[in-house]
Amino acid sequence: VADTPLDLIVVGSGLAGLAAGLRARELGLTVLVLEASSDPAGSSNSRMSGARYHAAGLHPEAGGDIIASKAEALTEGIGDPAVTRAWANACGRSYRWLRRQGIGFAVLRGVPVITPIRPNRRGEVWAGYGGDVAVRRLSSRLRLAGGGVRAASRATAIRRVASAGSWEVDVDRGGKRSRLRGANVALADGGFQSNLDMLREHAAVEHPEKLVQRGAGSGFGDGAAMALSAGGYLINPEALYATLIHRDGRRDVDLRHYPMLDALAAGSCVVDAAGARICDESVAGGIGIANRIARLPDPLGAWVIFDRERWETVGRRSQIVPPNPNLQLARATIVGANEVGELAAATGLDAANLAASLHGAAAEGSGIGPLRGDIKPPYFAVPLAVGLTFTMGGVAIAPDARVLTGDQTRIPGLYAIGATAGGLSGGPKPGYVGGLSIAVTLGMLAAEAMAQGREIVQ
Ligand SMILES: Cc1cc2nc3c(=O)[nH]c(=O)nc-3n(C[C@H](O)[C@H](O)[C@H](O)COP(=O)(O)OP(=O)(O)OC[C@H]3O[C@@H](n4cnc5c(N)ncnc54)[C@H](O)[C@@H]3O)c2cc1C
Repeated sequence: VADTPLDLIVVGSGLAGLAAGLRARELGLTVLVLEASSDPAGSSNSRMSGARYHAAGLHPEAGGDIIASKAEALTEGIGDPAVTRAWANACGRSYRWLRRQGIGFAVLRGVPVITPIRPNRRGEVWAGYGGDVAVRRLSSRLRLAGGGVRAASRATAIRRVASAGSWEVDVDRGGKRSRLRGANVALADGGFQSNLDMLREHAAVEHPEKLVQRGAGSGFGDGAAMALSAGGYLINPEALYATLIHRDGRRDVDLRHYPMLDALAAGSCVVDAAGARICDESVAGGIGIANRIARLPDPLGAWVIFDRERWETVGRRSQIVPPNPNLQLARATIVGANEVGELAAATGLDAANLAASLHGAAAEGSGIGPLRGDIKPPYFAVPLAVGLTFTMGGVAIAPDARVLTGDQTRIPGLYAIGATAGGLSGGPKPGYVGGLSIAVTLGMLAAEAMAQGREIVQ
């Protein structure tokens, strides 16, 4: 165990961990950020993101009341009201804080996007663009300010030493084990989307191996496991930030991040491996449909079926990297058929079920409403996969990002931030209120809570 305990040990060098580290350093705390990946810049969703800094889809400076009520509407009230309010109130401040770090933004469709803006090309196009640049910038500013960032260092366990009022953190450096001591620990490992056992146990996904990791694949749930071991609990862990991608995206990186097929699916007909509709597409929306498909017996058996009019409208105009023409340019499978029998033969779906689905019917007693307008021949069908980006639920926290026990007591010195934390997103659909704004804002709030009562250095 290192002799001098640090003020803060951060687990993970995505935007949440770096924001916590740098803000804590600004406030005079000693900081070390641990990063599991051997890449000095980390292997994070933050680097790969589309870099839209939105708060419940709004500009982060839209105002706390407006952001909080939009978040409440999106999650149908399932978010923790106090945490939602604290985040909503601080989103504008975290945006301005990022700008003070020299991170540039351009406002597109009313929402700031970190520059340089990712070009509207399909595939994994992120190196050198907004998220990647922001991570590198915060990391270098933290080092310049006297903080540490240590790559190839995976935190594996934490232990509270109550007598010393501090935490021990076990670290694995390529098989070499060591132990650090810190007054505070911030868990910022990005979620549990890459931990198949945790997805089965906490997110009710029977076949997580059939979901496609849409992001960095580095969220192994270590943070959640550590919080649980310290007496914390998970809130809304079943909520997946998952989008619909072309099934060829399993192997073809050109189809993995973008285009997303969410808007096309929400405006068309989505069927399972038997050809039966699974939900009210337009009500569920893309994330809702993806969450349903993730729980089907065969998450790799679903298709979206549409007609020419839908392909030319929602297929073309609804997104920055639209399916039309990007699927064709990527030579992705699109099945065309003049009648239902031909469509069934080409897709392997049941003809009778398909015929009913295309007229908007659903299984009796399913409660699924009619389609918004029939799908007219000629038909087109695209095989779907669920692109799992991150787990939206996570460790239950207080408004200052401190981890809570089941009886709502704040655990001293233990924080969960970014995609490790729960309480903001979720709900029946479930509702997505943000990624980056949660990461940076909770990181900032955690650092400020730790520094409370200490002399402010900067
Ligand atoms: C393709 C894509 C597009 C996106 N677009 C947007 C967007 O436009 N807007 C938006 O708001 N959100 C977007 N998101 C979501 C957003 O990127 C994430 O919600 C956010 O970056 C999470 O930040 P984080 O710091 O919590 O986690 P991450 O950025 O994932 O960082 C976690 C870090 O922790 C490290 N780590 C993991 N385990 C350990 C351990 N045990 N010890 C040490 N280190 C560990 C990982 O290697 C990783 O570097 C997108 C995501 C993807 C994949």
